This record gives sequence, structure tokens and C-alpha cells, in this order.
Amino acid sequence: MTQILKGKFPVAQLKEWMKQETEKLKTGGIVPGMGIIRVGESPDDIAYENNIIRNCKDIGIQVQVFQTSPNTSPDAFLDLVRNVNNRLDIHGILIFRPLPDSFQIDSVKCLIQPQKDIDCIQPENLLKIFEGKTDGFAPCTPEAVIEMLKYYQIPLQGAHVVVINRSMVVGKPLAMMLLQEGATVTICHSKTKNLREITSQADIVITAVGKPKIFGAEYFHDRTTVIDVGINYTEDGKICGDVNYEEVYGKVQRITPVPGGVGGLTTAVLLKHVIEACKRQQI
Ligand code: NAP
Repeated sequence: MTQILKGKFPVAQLKEWMKQETEKLKTGGIVPGMGIIRVGESPDDIAYENNIIRNCKDIGIQVQVFQTSPNTSPDAFLDLVRNVNNRLDIHGILIFRPLPDSFQIDSVKCLIQPQKDIDCIQPENLLKIFEGKTDGFAPCTPEAVIEMLKYYQIPLQGAHVVVINRSMVVGKPLAMMLLQEGATVTICHSKTKNLREITSQADIVITAVGKPKIFGAEYFHDRTTVIDVGINYTEDGKICGDVNYEEVYGKVQRITPVPGGVGGLTTAVLLKHVIEACKRQQI
């Protein structure tokens, strides 16, 4: 029987911890604060923002949204980031990306203070991931994957993990974090030959491809743990993962559902980072 790795249980555990931590901070008169910088009015960004605001309210984090137009000048945008950076009541900053090309993303990344960089866009924090240091902030999705595996006590040491994604947001940092846990990691991508042969030898397969239901049962074996990070839409507008869940369920050892898997845990990890950032800034 296939075990379904639901995100709601690790999320509940994390939320409980976050509520306790915000209560402790409040006794010292401190309220963890998050700043969201959004350019434009993308419905996806607004939906994610509303989800974050709802969760922050539940936990006791104060959120401020700084919205600006895509027509803002690059200099004005850098000034906005500087101002949010300097606010003492904002401990963690999330900038919705991608930014318009004219906004010089590299300057923005370097400008954000590493101790407020809860989404790990600052090169200093990324370097820490590659060095195996834990005093920075990891990118939220890779950390959510690791949290999921640890919550369900899936052994990583010595495990062969195949990651299908080589982006800086997911695949590359995730591979480094898995190495740190003692896994043997294979990174695959669109140019990988014989992908099926590689995945079918793995203990754990993590997919973050962004193509609906492209991985069927033939990619796995009956002891595979499948972590599906992909968020896609079917033709009739339903959310689905990269894995053909209906076909694969029953044929592998464990699988994350989409929705209901890694996605919600990613948001919870982001809020955990706000609290950690707030605590670190009190020292
Ligand atoms: P991305 O930059 O487009 O990366 C996609 C990766 O998949 C690339 O490395 C690409 O290879 C590879 N790929 C594409 N088609 C493939 C194929 N047929 N076979 C093997 N590999 C293939 O996207 P991303 O930003 O990393 O996001 C990936 C997915 O994760 C999206 O569905 C996104 O919505 C989801 N996501 C989820 C969360 C969450 O919290 N759950 C967070 C972030 C992203 P190349 O490098 O060769 O092009």
C-alpha cells in the first residue's frame, strides 16, 4: 500500500512551534514582521500574498505589503528595497519574482540584507547552502522537501535521491542540502538521457519540472518515495503535479499529493524564516 505524504501534518507541527515562538517574542514586546514587495497585479502573486497574510494572522506575524508598478524606475525600486531593508519592524523580506528585466535583479539580490533574506535570494545565503552552513536561510521549497522527508522519517543517509530540476530556486540548492544529509544525489534535467533508467534505480525521486502528469508508473519501482514539487494545471483548470498521481498511487512506497503536499509546507517554511529572522535580530 502506498503511503500518502500529506503536507498538512508537518505544517501543523511547524505552526504550533511558530505560535509558541511568537508568544514568547510578544512577552518581550516584539512582533515578528514581514515585508512583501510586489510589482504589478499578477493574480497568482495576489493569491499567494493573500494566503501568506491569512497564515501570518493565524500565527501572529505582522505583514506589510509594498506594491509598486512595473513602470517604476529601477532606481526607485532599489530605493524601495533599501527602505524596507532599513525598517526595524520588518525582520524578513519577500520579493515576488520574476521582476521586470529593467529592474536589475542582481543589484536587488545583493542589496537585501542577508539576515532579512527569508527567501534566500542573497548570494551570501546561497553560498552558505553550498558550504553546508545552517546559519543563513535556505530557499523555501528545497527546505520544505527536506522537512517533509524528515517529518515522515524517510532515511536520507546513503539513499540514492534523483532530483529532476537544475534551477537555482529548487534543484541546485536542494541537491546540496541532500548531500549535507548524506544522500547520494543525481541531478536530472531536460537534456538527461535515459531518465527512466535513472529514476527507476532511485530510492527517492523529487520532481520539479512544471509539466502536468508527465511521470507515469514506469519511472518508479515499488519502493520509491516520490516527492512531487510541480504545480501545474490540467486542461480543465485543476491543479496537478508532474507525476500522474492516479496511475502511480498503489505502485510506489510513498507519494506526495498535489495539491496537499509540498506547496503548503513551502509557505509554512517561509513564515518560519520570518520568526527565525526576528529572533536572530534581537541578539
Ligand atoms: P524551471 O526553472 O522551469 O525548472 C524546470 C526544470 O525541469 C529545469 O531544470 C528543466 O530542465 C527541467 N525539465 C523540464 N522538462 C523536463 C523533462 N521533460 N524532463 C526532465 N526535466 C525537465 O522551474 P522552477 O521554477 O524550478 O519550478 C519547477 C516546478 O516547480 C514548477 O511546476 C513550479 O510551479 C514548481 N514549484 C513549486 C514550488 C512549491 O512550493 N511546491 C515552489 C517553486 C516551484 P532544463 O534546465 O534543461 O530546462
